[in-house]
Amino acid sequence: MKILIVEDEPKTGDYLRQGLREAGFAVDLATHGADGLHMALAGDPDLLILDVMLPGLDGWTVLRELRRQGWTRPVLFLTARDQVEERVRGLELGADDYLVKPFSFAELLARVRTILRRGRAGLEPTILRVADLELDLLRRRVTRAGRRIDLTAKEFGLLELLMRRSGEVLPRSLIASHVWDMNFDSDTNVIEVAVRRLRAKVDEGFEPRLIHTVRGMGYVLEVPEERA
Ligand code: CA
Repeated sequence: MKILIVEDEPKTGDYLRQGLREAGFAVDLATHGADGLHMALAGDPDLLILDVMLPGLDGWTVLRELRRQGWTRPVLFLTARDQVEERVRGLELGADDYLVKPFSFAELLARVRTILRRGRAGLEPTILRVADLELDLLRRRVTRAGRRIDLTAKEFGLLELLMRRSGEVLPRSLIASHVWDMNFDSDTNVIEVAVRRLRAKVDEGFEPRLIHTVRGMGYVLEVPEERA
């Protein structure tokens, strides 16, 4: 699998290239937006890791141009801290995921593997399933054991995120930025309240319980191991 990194900060670029090579990927590095665009089109990498702030063409312009030319490979955006608009804009332009700098290499690698696994599965599934829980993305409908569950838009978004990343512990900050488009503020309990409501609808009266709190870390949706 080949990865193209477009990153103008030499230290970050070298660090990512080396780490991904050690993880077994073929890696190309571009340090300029226009070079990145050409290398993506010519080299056909399996994944593009794209910094937003670049000399020449910025990351948004590169992505917009790639999508305009029918380039469909996945894109992981690297954005600056606290730039919610950047992340939203990147996702609107068709980025598959984003990481906020500074990030750990382990986190980057986990995202890369998830995106590539998703890509290999072929077309994006329109129905997500975990145990007897089903979320239909097209019809915006959720059922458990065949029974319809009514959710608000936010609850649906939260459940979609938990199901897409089933088995992964999702920190509150990630949930906040994905579902509420906001930065995580530890004074607010909006996420706890939403998870509690969602759990009441999805888990109460059903077995096994699927939505779990991992104390001090976040939430995970999965079939408990002793039952798997
Ligand atoms: Ca940069």
